[in-house]
Amino acid sequence: MCGIVAYTGSNPAVPVLLNGLRRLEYRGYDSAGIAVNTPDGISIRKSKGKVSELAGLLGEDETQIAESTCGIAHTRWATHGPPTTINAHPHAGGKNGIVLVHNGIIENHHALRSTLTAKGYEFLSETDTEVLAHLVDSHYQGDLVDALTAALKEVHGTYGIACLSEKEEGVLVVARRGSPIVIGVGEGETIVASDASAIINHTRQAIYLDDHDIAKISQNKIDIRSSDNVPVSREASEIDWSADAAEKGGYEHYMLKEIFEQPEAIRNTIRGRMDSERGTAVLSGLDLSPRELAELQRMLIVGCGTSMNAGLVGEYAMEDFAGVLAEVEQAAEFRYRNPIVGSRDLVIAISQSGETADTLAAVREAMDKGALVAGLVNVVGSTIARETGRGVYLHAGPEISVASTKAFTSQVSVLLMAALKFSRSRRMSVEQGRRFVREIEAIPELVERVLAKNDEIAKIAEKYVDQTSAFFIGRGYMYPVALEGALKLKEISYIHAEGYHAAELKHGPIALLEKSVPVIALCNDGPGKDKTLGNVAECQARDSRVLGIVTEGDEEAMAAVNDYISVPPCPLHTAVIPSTVALQLLSYHIARLRGCPIDQPRNLAKSVTVE
Ligand code: GLU
Repeated sequence: MCGIVAYTGSNPAVPVLLNGLRRLEYRGYDSAGIAVNTPDGISIRKSKGKVSELAGLLGEDETQIAESTCGIAHTRWATHGPPTTINAHPHAGGKNGIVLVHNGIIENHHALRSTLTAKGYEFLSETDTEVLAHLVDSHYQGDLVDALTAALKEVHGTYGIACLSEKEEGVLVVARRGSPIVIGVGEGETIVASDASAIINHTRQAIYLDDHDIAKISQNKIDIRSSDNVPVSREASEIDWSADAAEKGGYEHYMLKEIFEQPEAIRNTIRGRMDSERGTAVLSGLDLSPRELAELQRMLIVGCGTSMNAGLVGEYAMEDFAGVLAEVEQAAEFRYRNPIVGSRDLVIAISQSGETADTLAAVREAMDKGALVAGLVNVVGSTIARETGRGVYLHAGPEISVASTKAFTSQVSVLLMAALKFSRSRRMSVEQGRRFVREIEAIPELVERVLAKNDEIAKIAEKYVDQTSAFFIGRGYMYPVALEGALKLKEISYIHAEGYHAAELKHGPIALLEKSVPVIALCNDGPGKDKTLGNVAECQARDSRVLGIVTEGDEEAMAAVNDYISVPPCPLHTAVIPSTVALQLLSYHIARLRGCPIDQPRNLAKSVTVE
């Protein structure tokens, strides 16, 4: 959440900062702001709303701003104080001309505000961030690194920070604890950002700061220190995707582009990881020693939102095929409830960004308790990937749309591969393993066949566009699909939607069914279908219209529902993916017909780096 961009070099900073903010806008779009060094001090411009509004403020007649070669910028996802222009970042501190942008939460901001007010500091905004600006100012004695280092010792909470001082022109100081900071190392210029999508147009060489690092950056020099002011060395790594991957590529929305990218994304996820001969998956990041494997007692899968829904598929597959006891748990709950976990547990942490605050905290909790911990993340070099030290990258390419699509299907693909791998090392035969390999390899084509129905799904969406409420139901492997389908619909169309186990409906929610409340039922052919069709009849008896996801050629299911989208025949554990894709398209078209801002749904932002 929240996007930070900073630049120092020999070129005008403003275009770099604005382009970077546009790339990061999916991380927050409550307000945007910019600050640049000029010969007369630091100039700040900020605006409520999106980056386009900020860009409109920066008239070409402001020569000093236009000519500046050093600055910082921010796009906000408000945590403290409403999304107003005054609360927009950058925030200025005291009399020393300290200006900074911040991603995260300063938890002891109340206490610090009182202390600073007593010292005579005046606050303009309601943000926790302004406290930080004044605090840095209160420590400033001519060196921004020293001031920030001292200030951060007094701070509780999380931060990614980029900071300027009017007395040190051309110098950026950045720091992180809990919120990502990437330094793009260019030729005679440096671009700092919350993630690599804002720097990829300038350089592919990226340095990922670790927690507690503080870096002083000038045009040609990057000096990174620990919180105790000891120099530390952080290697640059190469960003392995191109700038095109972060463009809309002719699609109306990133979400639609990413839905259509899924066959390719899944191919990239499974590429080089299937061993058809041995009938297994090669996931070196999940290799356990023979002893660890023999002692493995349980797999715990932690995540939030869409990642947690993917985790539930993993739980089912792990128990189903590998006979490994598995449980999925909401990451924040895991972290705060003092879980019973130890060295015989493998904890798999799922996060698209690899920065999700609650999932990261769960990782740390599990590591402290001695568990084996692996990350399942998309963003290479992200904090969860680095801290776990083992795991599997999704290789799904950058996901820009706030509503996750391709990350989910890639996560499920990896979890199925993991289930295969563990099954083969326990009780599955090579023949069964080979069949499982073929089933996984068939997934991209199954998805292509659903994507070919895009127009048909758009037409069906027209019938469901005016509802205010909807239920999604499913059983077994289709239960997580129901959860994910409901999540997708509510987040982008603002229709109140709930995912339920099909059997659970009559334990309460059925009271809400009536003509205006449709039910989307996962009726895929396989175990449990007959029972779900029974639940469909119960819903129809309460006047609800039922849209079924059915298996191609299944006349019985088609006849049982009011409308249907068919998906190709396949086993239920892989049917999760094409069925989810059908629901992604359904939600997309409903939201489009309702005129919703699909890529930037209200109140949401991607990469949830606050708890
Ligand atoms: N807590 C800060 C604020 O509300 C920063 C939020 C963010 O990460 O965008 O302004």
